[in-house]
Amino acid sequence: MSEIYTKTAFITGVSGQDGAYLSKLLFSKGYKIIGITRSYHQDNLEKLKILNIDKEVTMEECDLLDLSSVITLLNKYKPDEIYNLAAQSSVGLSFKQPIGTINFNIVSVLNLLEAIRIIKPDVRFYQASSSEMFGKVIELPVTINTPMHPLSPYAISKASAHWIVVNYRESYNLYACNGVLFNHESFLRSNGFFVKKVLNETVRNRNNSDWLLKVGSIDIKRDFGFSVNYVEAMWLMLQAEKADDFIICSGKSITLRSIIEYVFKKLDVPIDKLVIDNDFIRPTDIEDIYGDNTPAKSILGWQYELDFYQVLDILIEEELNEFSNK
Ligand code: NDP
Repeated sequence: MSEIYTKTAFITGVSGQDGAYLSKLLFSKGYKIIGITRSYHQDNLEKLKILNIDKEVTMEECDLLDLSSVITLLNKYKPDEIYNLAAQSSVGLSFKQPIGTINFNIVSVLNLLEAIRIIKPDVRFYQASSSEMFGKVIELPVTINTPMHPLSPYAISKASAHWIVVNYRESYNLYACNGVLFNHESFLRSNGFFVKKVLNETVRNRNNSDWLLKVGSIDIKRDFGFSVNYVEAMWLMLQAEKADDFIICSGKSITLRSIIEYVFKKLDVPIDKLVIDNDFIRPTDIEDIYGDNTPAKSILGWQYELDFYQVLDILIEEELNEFSNK
């Protein structure tokens, strides 16, 4: 007997942090999920044990830089919704690989929108846009109308992709949205990202007398949230009456230093284990940024009230469990 699905969705970047949580959410809503990857690595999907790869997510390998491959896939499944999460997502790495980052993060979006315009213009399209594109902000909180001054190759790529989405919506009347997400974390975040790095290293090395936590600028402030709740906003955006762009954030910023201090205190680690290493300092960085999530709450009905220290409590617990199970 064939399965009865409510809708079919593509998730590009399905193997990443948000792709895994979004798959879990869409599966709970009865979607047929086509997970798009470059490489079939699926550790995150397996970590969320509820997901049974092959049954609950159909994995497809596709090079999003190749328009004909994207067209073939669109023709094969005729999805109702596309969540475009695939990207080179690290700001730090984008300084080392500016051309690759800019090339992939822009051309992949253009290919998806061109394929939609040509093959299936009624598809609803979500683009993973980023608060990084605002960069040097003059006035806080950030709203969707805040002028952009991107400070990294990653931010420039996301700003370009953002305007491509707006342009296709206005030019071809596509249902295409930008979710402008601020930093959001989870147990599934890659180890290179700040919060996960602090948690991962501290849990594993807290009794190692030789270990030092080496970090870059930690007096900068960021608006941090929880990935599990942020993927709900992605889904809500594609269910709205009208396609639009939304800021998704907690509404408050905290220093990176306060995150380290909180984790060290919880795990009983002395603060002299913290070392500033110039190798981790970026050529340019945003000093402070936080957003206004009022439109997401009032128009989409998105709910988010978590304080980031509450999120850290969850993440410390998950990291300790993972470590003790190894
Ligand atoms: P991840 O880095 O965890 O996942 C992104 C996925 O994209 C990877 O797993 C990878 O999957 C795929 N990918 C495709 N092409 C490339 C490439 N050239 N280089 C690296 N990876 C590539 O990101 P998140 O889940 O954290 O974020 C999802 C999206 O949201 C990204 O576009 C990110 O830029 C954006 N974003 C994230 C924020 C955050 O705080 N997490 C904040 C704002 C925006 P595979 O190898 O299987 O192809």
